[in-house]
Amino acid sequence: MTIETASIGILHKAVDKLADGYRHLPAHTPEYDQQRAEQILLQVAEKMWDNYPYPHPQYAGQMLKPPHPVARMAYMLATWINPNNHALDGGKASSAMEKEAVAKIATMYGWNNFLGHLTGGGTLANLEALWVANQIHPGKTVLASSQAHYTHNRICGVLQIPFSPVAVDDQARMDLTDLEKQLQQRDVGTVVVTLGTTGVGSVDPLPEILTLQAQYGFRIHIDSAYGGYYTLADNLTAPVRAAYDAIHRADSIVVDPHKHGLQPYGCGCVLFRDPQVGQYYKHDSPYTYFSSDELHLGEISLECSRAGAAAVALWATLEMFPLVHKGDFASDLSRCREAALELYSRLKNDNRFITPLSPDLDIVIWAPKAATTREISRLSQQTFEQAEAQHLYLATFSFPSHLISKAFPEVTVDSEYTTCVRSCLMKPEHAAWGSRIWLMLDQIQNRLT
Ligand SMILES: *Cc1c(COP(=O)(O)O)cnc(C)c1O
Repeated sequence: MTIETASIGILHKAVDKLADGYRHLPAHTPEYDQQRAEQILLQVAEKMWDNYPYPHPQYAGQMLKPPHPVARMAYMLATWINPNNHALDGGKASSAMEKEAVAKIATMYGWNNFLGHLTGGGTLANLEALWVANQIHPGKTVLASSQAHYTHNRICGVLQIPFSPVAVDDQARMDLTDLEKQLQQRDVGTVVVTLGTTGVGSVDPLPEILTLQAQYGFRIHIDSAYGGYYTLADNLTAPVRAAYDAIHRADSIVVDPHKHGLQPYGCGCVLFRDPQVGQYYKHDSPYTYFSSDELHLGEISLECSRAGAAAVALWATLEMFPLVHKGDFASDLSRCREAALELYSRLKNDNRFITPLSPDLDIVIWAPKAATTREISRLSQQTFEQAEAQHLYLATFSFPSHLISKAFPEVTVDSEYTTCVRSCLMKPEHAAWGSRIWLMLDQIQNRLT
């Protein structure tokens, strides 16, 4: 694998440019032991070898996507100043960039008048959304599908809100019958609708959930931490497209620029349709230095200090890749999905494998075929290990066995869950590497014991 280094030259020019803005100050250069720092940095480089090669197309496992060089450079450039987007006094330029970048994400969903900001990640973003939901409907139950991110159950524990999981249908999407049953039985304040579950990428049926909302009245929170940008793709199936087209009717949305949005970690985003929810964030900390009437992002965020660098990186990325249909970023997403569909179709047409779900987005779940779910689990684990030995990096996923037997009645269920193989094909390059990856999977399958 080669590591991209042209960005270092560009970054150097940008750092010089940054310095131009501060030449009016008396000279001051921080001193440090450069030799020692170099030694340590080389040691760090060596320690980093003990990571899987996430940026390489043969890494086709967990939900990991490399940041774009422009994001990496902008992030590093900003750290020379290290702004804090809590208050304008700590990060004036980067706060302005955050407001612009967040507005672009909101526009992608058709929202112009909204409240939103970046967060450290999807967990914090979801926590804020559920915290606001509970301010509006205190003590009422939060529902999310059993395939939703585990964070919702845990956040509800932290916030002491009642939580109940909703069953999923055979496509691992929220089951509408169970949802309606729970709406009748419980005092539900909020339904979390996942547009792209983290495990299998299934997209909950938002239009039908909106119909139930008209009858039962509840808030809708969209957790699209992983799948949010997919609204730009042009190769979604009709039900998935319909779910994305209805996002603007939700009350809040979470999307993680650090998942599919080409950002380094530390960049989530929460959006509220009603800007009035800003009132719940009000505080008057004596430490905080809100020196002007303009909006300080710390006034509408639960986190205090936040990396201005994350906002700068996102702003730079959106300059290069506007969030528009048919744009470069949109077609890269479509290519990720194409890669997933191609792998899915190879697996589905080969009777050595089982494929319990057709992918809604770019995650493929499959397993070597066997007579029992336990045997399938054993072979999936072996596939994972043998692939790694050949430098093909996959992931495993614990899938409810009853969904496997629904799709493959000939398989005997002798375990509650079945380990399957999971691939997040989140890099557009995966489309070109499909044949190569398939060749490796084919050989691994033939050698399973
Ligand atoms: C990743 C993810 C989260 C958690 O977000 P982090 O950025 O990992 O904190 C929540 N929900 C979904 C659907 C996710 O994919």
